[in-house]
Amino acid sequence: MRGTLTLPTEPGARITVVGIAWNITLFVVKLSVGFLTGSTGLIADGIHSASDMATDLVVLGGMRFGRRRADESHPYGHGRFETLAGGVVAGALILIGLLLAWEGSFALYRGEESFPGPAVIGVAAISVGVKEWLYRRTAESARSVGSPALYANAWHHRTDALSSIAVLAGGVGAVIGFGYADRIAGVIVGLMVAAAGWRTITRVLHELTEGGLARSEIETIEEAIAGVSGVKAWHRLRGRRVGRERFVDVHVLVDPELSVVDGHRVSMDVERAIREASRLPINVTVHVEPELDELTPHHAEEG
Ligand SMILES: [Zn+2]
Ligand SMILES: [Zn+2]
Repeated sequence: MRGTLTLPTEPGARITVVGIAWNITLFVVKLSVGFLTGSTGLIADGIHSASDMATDLVVLGGMRFGRRRADESHPYGHGRFETLAGGVVAGALILIGLLLAWEGSFALYRGEESFPGPAVIGVAAISVGVKEWLYRRTAESARSVGSPALYANAWHHRTDALSSIAVLAGGVGAVIGFGYADRIAGVIVGLMVAAAGWRTITRVLHELTEGGLARSEIETIEEAIAGVSGVKAWHRLRGRRVGRERFVDVHVLVDPELSVVDGHRVSMDVERAIREASRLPINVTVHVEPELDELTPHHAEEG
């Protein structure tokens, strides 16, 4: 990039910076037009854009930190910083969303009508276009790097588009003479923001409470293990997420007559097979044991 502004080269960070720039623009335009026309829907959407900008910054910080290599203080890497960043984003969204919905409901309760002009429709339409574009670009980056925070942010952009569609509908309603349309749009925007936060926080809590991998991911790993020659059987396969990485461990049973060297080779093959089958960064620990009947009672209690 030429000029004074240099965009980060990492695709996830790059699209996030682009998103921040757009959110600042949308915030300024929506709030200006919102106050000039007295549209609560557009003002709510503008505050929404400001909160988006703040959460984008948190995502950016989380990604930067989450990518750091494992060190003495964080031997499993720094992925959970990214997860925590997602949690902060979600908490802020729930709070702001409920506040906006409350404000709009209160205006409706007081029976305050509003008739903002057609400018609201124009601004909302531009916002819908920008947000849908941001959703597609961010989802693309999220898939390529497997970042949960980035993926949450992508979906967030799409919710933003829906939120602006509500404002657009409210603007049209007001123009054709329905005085509550714009207020209702404000309430809908608030509830959408809160719902986006709720969806993200359930994912974050799943990871922070050591939630397991999705069934489909476990099945992919099982297929990879089954394809390794020398593996007689396996058990205690379990996995969890740490930010964008996965941690998996499994016990594999091998021929009891194998040498330590050969047994180790089988374990290396299992690790490699799982790594190659996984789209995302994955850390595998394999415990090798001889396929003997005496061992079975020992494992019966472990499950
Ligand atoms: Zn948003
Ligand atoms: Zn075992």
